[in-house]
Amino acid sequence: MFVCVYCASSQKIDRKYVDLAAEVGGELARRGHTLVSGGATVSCMGAVTRACRAAGGRTVGVIPQALVDIEVADDDSDELIVTADMRERKGIMDARSDAFLVLPGGIGTLEELFEIWTTRILGLHERPLVLLDPWGLYDPLRDLVTGMYDQGFTRAHVFDAIAWTTTIAEAFDALESPTGRLTPSPEELAEAVED
Ligand code: AMP
Repeated sequence: MFVCVYCASSQKIDRKYVDLAAEVGGELARRGHTLVSGGATVSCMGAVTRACRAAGGRTVGVIPQALVDIEVADDDSDELIVTADMRERKGIMDARSDAFLVLPGGIGTLEELFEIWTTRILGLHERPLVLLDPWGLYDPLRDLVTGMYDQGFTRAHVFDAIAWTTTIAEAFDALESPTGRLTPSPEELAEAVED
């Protein structure tokens, strides 16, 4: 699969986030996936890409011209696409990808997450969307969206359209499943039958 990874560009974050991105990059390669990313060498964006290639994987980077210097374009990418602007970047990353993995990030990552999430809720695509959040950075987001759902602002399947995971194993389980959901445990399956 072509797996799009959205993640942080900030260089001020804790090292554990960069290490997580590197682990994900290695796992993508070991599972035979191609990475689609923002084509930058900084922070988590750089870590996921370098680790993917180091483990023998292929990478496609998509970066707007205006960010080529700021985020330092990944010239070593197997394919580096320089776009005119942010919208074109997001469009190409979307079009090239079979599944989406969101790691801890800032508002750029959020913006990318929301586009894939909202379009999946609207039924415009069915590709897996997985959030990997081992340390709870996105817990307030989950609370916000839960509150929106409770007050009728969003559709019931808002949380069906995304797999919220805390480990790399869970994240890949959901990414590689046709529904984009986690494989239910035997206990969960038994509970569902009882219901
Ligand atoms: P951040 O999560 O803020 O560190 O940003 C992660 C990545 O998202 C960076 O490459 C940003 O340049 C990128 N980004 C921010 N806003 C947008 C946007 N509107 N469209 C596409 N990419 C964006």
